[in-house]
Amino acid sequence: MIVVMRPGCAQKDVAHVSEELERHGYTVKPIIGVEKSIVCAVGGEEHKNIDFLEQLRAFDGVEDVLLITKPYKFVARETRPERSVVNVGGVLVGGNEVVMMAGPCTVESEEQVMETAAAVAGAGAKILRGGAFKPSTSPYSFQGMGKTGLEILREAGRRYDLRVVTEVMDPRKVEMVAAYADVLQVGARNMQNYDLLREVGQSRTPVLLKRGLSAKYEELLLAAEYIATGGNEAIMLCERGIRTFETHTRNTLDIGAVPVLRGLSHLPVVVDPSQGTGKRDLVSALSMAAVAAGADSLIIEVHPNPDAALKDGPQSLTIQGYLDMVPNLARIAEAVGRTMAVGSLV
Ligand code: PEP
Ligand code: MN
Repeated sequence: MIVVMRPGCAQKDVAHVSEELERHGYTVKPIIGVEKSIVCAVGGEEHKNIDFLEQLRAFDGVEDVLLITKPYKFVARETRPERSVVNVGGVLVGGNEVVMMAGPCTVESEEQVMETAAAVAGAGAKILRGGAFKPSTSPYSFQGMGKTGLEILREAGRRYDLRVVTEVMDPRKVEMVAAYADVLQVGARNMQNYDLLREVGQSRTPVLLKRGLSAKYEELLLAAEYIATGGNEAIMLCERGIRTFETHTRNTLDIGAVPVLRGLSHLPVVVDPSQGTGKRDLVSALSMAAVAAGADSLIIEVHPNPDAALKDGPQSLTIQGYLDMVPNLARIAEAVGRTMAVGSLV
């Protein structure tokens, strides 16, 4: 790291900064300039000294502290240049194939899930999505079917050879949900629920970590770091739109997040254009954009009758809408040197 001292600061300030850095394990080299001095420090583990670094900023004579390594380690590309592939029960996310995850926002009934699962599996999807425990902004809206919902998802997965991704909200339910799910989804609203992150870090089930509504990339990656430090490195990062001043769409889908996150981290990047836009007729265009930008996987909401959906109907594709979209995505995937399964229904 480089500590930039204020112009004309006292010698004793430089000495104090140097001593404290040494005390934290750094090898220190102060460079005293005519106008400005800097203190170069190497060798300490910056990500483990994060609290000290914050304090350092307020030391007498300090103008700025510039880090030269990232505040996260396990999930950083600089630590592991090769890309991670997450193995979801034999389905590889982060390899050459762009993997489709699709299904209803929320499990509503066995018929609804089976009909959707049959269609998306027939269109090449490998992973079935569906919420059994739903995070709802209003306590009056549908909260999900709970354990019954998990059982329906599991059975649909078995019947149509799909892996299952579903949300877990409560740290106390991680083990229970993992008994049914192949991927534990940590929702946007829970990206900074550190108890939950620690708990899924203890699990050996892969995790889909969604970006918080107003989370910076670094905050998302630090949330992933919580999971990884628990020992679970099977993490997929998910861009699902952020809150901006724009109100035309439910969220603003940040396509730029795809190359940025793939540059900063070795973890696979998934894009959710359904929550990302809130509008069915935008899902196809933004899915294509996500694949073009390098997404490793898409997670798409599909409902047999979106107008009757209990949740997120306006952003859910009809089955036909999904079937129509897939061949276009496959063409884009091919154009960027990837593959995508299309299935026999398409
Ligand atoms: C969802 O996938 O239905 C969902 C609630 O996602 P998010 O946490 O991104 O809002
Ligand atoms: Mn939803």
